[in-house]
Amino acid sequence: MTTTTEMSVNSDFYGLDDYLNDADRALIARVRSFVEQDVTPIINEYWEKADFPYQLVPKFAELGIIGTAIQGYGCPGLTRLQTGLVAMELSRGDGSINTFNAVHSGLAMGSINLLGSDEQKQRWLPPMARLEKLGAFALTEPAHGSDSVALETSARLDGDHYVINGSKRWIGLGHVADLVIIWARDTADQKVKAFVLEKNGDGTYPAGYHAEAITGKMAKRAIQQAQIEIEGLRIPAENLLAKSTSFRDVGAVLNTTRSTVAWESLGHATAAYEMAKCAEDRGIHEEDIMPTMAEWEVYIRVAVAVGRKAIEQGVAREKVSRRELRERAEKMIREARESTALLMREGYIPAPPPD
Ligand SMILES: Cc1cc2nc3c(=O)[nH]c(=O)nc-3n(C[C@H](O)[C@H](O)[C@H](O)COP(=O)(O)OP(=O)(O)OC[C@H]3O[C@@H](n4cnc5c(N)ncnc54)[C@H](O)[C@@H]3O)c2cc1C
Repeated sequence: MTTTTEMSVNSDFYGLDDYLNDADRALIARVRSFVEQDVTPIINEYWEKADFPYQLVPKFAELGIIGTAIQGYGCPGLTRLQTGLVAMELSRGDGSINTFNAVHSGLAMGSINLLGSDEQKQRWLPPMARLEKLGAFALTEPAHGSDSVALETSARLDGDHYVINGSKRWIGLGHVADLVIIWARDTADQKVKAFVLEKNGDGTYPAGYHAEAITGKMAKRAIQQAQIEIEGLRIPAENLLAKSTSFRDVGAVLNTTRSTVAWESLGHATAAYEMAKCAEDRGIHEEDIMPTMAEWEVYIRVAVAVGRKAIEQGVAREKVSRRELRERAEKMIREARESTALLMREGYIPAPPPD
């Protein structure tokens, strides 16, 4: 849901610009313009409908952000900092739009990039980078969320196929994606591995894969997650991601995407702040939001510093700052709530798009 009545409060009042180079600034401008011109005018309608605006997919593909930090295969090879800035700008317009990119680029493409063989990467990443093929990441199960290490979905080798059985829940794009990374326990060694499900040529799912969008959500309404039942699903053995050998690999993929969650909350908080600032004509004054503004600069400094640290230390070491990111994200969520509270009754409905 967009939270800005107008996007004219674009001035860089929190000094982010000081930390960025020309390429970072150009990227922000590109994503912001997409959000303002293409997302904001329609997103409230999709929030109400609880559906994703799939007509945005071609424009998304042209933005030069799909695949974010992945090098080669038609991906832009963004820095970790730029990946964060993209998440922030998309979330400033709408969280669901950012989740779309986080699931497709971060989790699905990220799994293939990190764990696929060269042949698998050549096969799947270029069409995903062009958004000709959408990706999903199916880890969570009805009985296993945070404790996904205990997942029960099984994979049994039968000739040249794996037979998958189990169920998954809350899988973003899991009912529409062309490629679904299914995490399942190999019955041969009890290790958790990643299996790539591909749609049939006619756009249907192979027998044994039944996915339905979860309805009635109260948040992230403009993107859907699926409940998935898997029964006797046959996946070619060659679709096992070559370097996925244990649950540790799930953690490796998640480590590359975690920091964007903090950036997302920064985007939401910024949008809420901007909207509160827009409400000055309703008697909300600068001093009411000044403390928030001061904290903002601290968050921006931390986020940028963490982004840079990740570049220096490499993606796998990003977990070094996980606790710090979590604390900051929690604070930012609180701040976003406070900014929304400043709006009181008008903060409870989606704002109309700008004229
Ligand atoms: C909008 C949305 C999109 C999602 N998209 C995807 C997706 O694309 N793919 C996917 O695989 N999954 C997805 N998920 C699932 C998400 O990863 C899980 O919701 C998450 O892992 C938490 O699991 P849970 O909801 O079962 O909560 P639980 O694990 O039941 O946790 C509930 C609460 O208990 C706390 N808790 C849990 N374990 C402990 C512990 N050991 N000690 C102390 N406290 C604990 C948690 O912090 C939390 O506050 C999505 C979820 C949502 C809501």
